[in-house]
Amino acid sequence: MKKGAYSEAMEDAGYSTEPVRPWGCCHVAGCVMPGTMTSSTSGTSEWFCRFHFGAPAATWGDITARVANRQALFDVGRSLSASTPNTTISTAAIRTIEAARRRDLLELPADKKRTARNLGRHMMAVLENEVKRPQQQPQMGTMGELIAESEEIGA
Ligand SMILES: [Zn+2]
Repeated sequence: MKKGAYSEAMEDAGYSTEPVRPWGCCHVAGCVMPGTMTSSTSGTSEWFCRFHFGAPAATWGDITARVANRQALFDVGRSLSASTPNTTISTAAIRTIEAARRRDLLELPADKKRTARNLGRHMMAVLENEVKRPQQQPQMGTMGELIAESEEIGA
C-alpha cells in the first residue's frame, strides 16, 4: 500500500497522531472504551480497546460509532457484571435499558438465573457481538424504509 493511501485511510477512520487521548483510553480518537490491548513489546506504543485491536484502520470509524451508540448500555452491562452473585437487577438499570429501546437485552437465556451479574454478562456478550458483527444486529429501519414511509404519507 502507498503511504499516502494509508494515511488517508487512517484519517478517514478518525485516527489521530496527537497524544490527546487520556491515558488508559483506546488509541482511536473518539473511542470511549478502555485501551486494554497492544501489539507493542516496548510498552510505549498505542493501546486499543478489544474492538479496535487488530481491526483494519478503515473500519475504525464504524466501530467507534457502534460503540458510542451503545455507551450507556455498555456502562450498565459492565456495572451489572461486577455485581456480587444473586444481586437483583436494579430498576435504574432496567430503565436505562428500556430508555435505549433495548428490551431484548433483558431476555436472559432460559438456563440463566435472573440476577444482575447474569444479565450484565449477557448484555456485554450481545453488545460486543453487535459491535464486531454489525450485519447480525436487528435493523432499526434503513434510510430506504424511511423514504418509502414519508412518500406514503405524502401521497
Ligand atoms: Zn477502541
